[in-house]
Amino acid sequence: MQVVVSRDQIAKRVEELGSAITRDYKGKELVIVGILRGACIFLADLIRAIDLPVTLDFMEVASYQGVKSSGSIRILKDITTEVEGKDLLIVEDIVDTGLTLAFVIEYLGGRQPRSMKVCALALKSGTPMPTPSPIHYLGFRVPDGFLVGYGLDLDQKYRNLRDLCILCEEKELKR
Ligand code: 5GP
Ligand code: MG
Repeated sequence: MQVVVSRDQIAKRVEELGSAITRDYKGKELVIVGILRGACIFLADLIRAIDLPVTLDFMEVASYQGVKSSGSIRILKDITTEVEGKDLLIVEDIVDTGLTLAFVIEYLGGRQPRSMKVCALALKSGTPMPTPSPIHYLGFRVPDGFLVGYGLDLDQKYRNLRDLCILCEEKELKR
């Protein structure tokens, strides 16, 4: 296992993202929806870097089994906050194929928020992003392997690692 993004780099970037969000939403109130479970650690740090009134809710979706995306997305937990007419910020851990994010955007968009943006900790380098990108605030571009730590798991383990680490490279996943 190799460190891809260190705890110090993460801490610095989280402060920058928090400042940018604070600036962009000045005078507004934010509803933050974290995507469980991977985004929990990032979300906990990020909201403390945001100097605005915020409320929190969570959605849990599942697509991955082991180290591969299953391709089909299921809602395991829905939000309970009324978001119609509110400014919504979705916080996601890592974007790989973009399917999960597209699903969540479509789903929460249907609840008619006034605005909806996405903050993601990481985006895999090989992921082609449509323009305009659905990710408004991005922490890091990371290599195309399987990452763990700082909230990210492999079969529910390693979430408590302080650094973002790569478990295996893309070529090993394909074997
Ligand atoms: P996508 O739908 O973009 O392919 O995958 C997004 C979801 O799969 C993320 O919410 C994340 O939970 C999980 N995921 C994608 N890549 C990784 C990875 O490298 N490591 C871990 N632990 N989860 C990942
Ligand atoms: Mg996830």
